[in-house]
Amino acid sequence: MSTQICRSCEIKKPITEFDRSSAAADGRQGNCKVCSRNKRNASNARMRSNGDMGRHVRQRYNTAKSRPKHKDTICSEEEWVAEFWRQYNETGGRCPKTGIKYDLANNSSGASNPRAPSCDQIIPSMGYVVGNMQWVSVFYNRMKMDLSDAEVSNFMYQSAIHNGWVSHTGE
Ligand SMILES: [Zn+2]
Repeated sequence: MSTQICRSCEIKKPITEFDRSSAAADGRQGNCKVCSRNKRNASNARMRSNGDMGRHVRQRYNTAKSRPKHKDTICSEEEWVAEFWRQYNETGGRCPKTGIKYDLANNSSGASNPRAPSCDQIIPSMGYVVGNMQWVSVFYNRMKMDLSDAEVSNFMYQSAIHNGWVSHTGE
């Protein structure tokens, strides 16, 4: 049986212990499956830490800027990052609309976390410019896709009352 030495643990293993790779000349990954999994887990753990919040925020910038409709109505990357940290410090790292604490860890299905911060345009037609950007959780921003700020707030308020999470003060 053909074997290969893992680039990470340097153990000689059967070729089936290496994932296939279309990019590699020999058609296999350089790291064995065990080492690959360990590296993925370590990468997820790093994403959980706030140290990677900056990276996440820059990724969000690149995604927004890559959309043709935003390319002329978006601030500089420096302004984008500065505005994020200003709001992050102001809210103590929480979504100002829902109170959810920002979290970058992938959810159980591996999809990105709805608790991650996402930049919302307060007035959608104005673009991502300073004064029109509010950082909120992905949860909240998804609801904002079809609804106004007031409609989402009202929805959350009605839901909380309906579920008995808060009592109606009655006015
Ligand atoms: Zn290995």
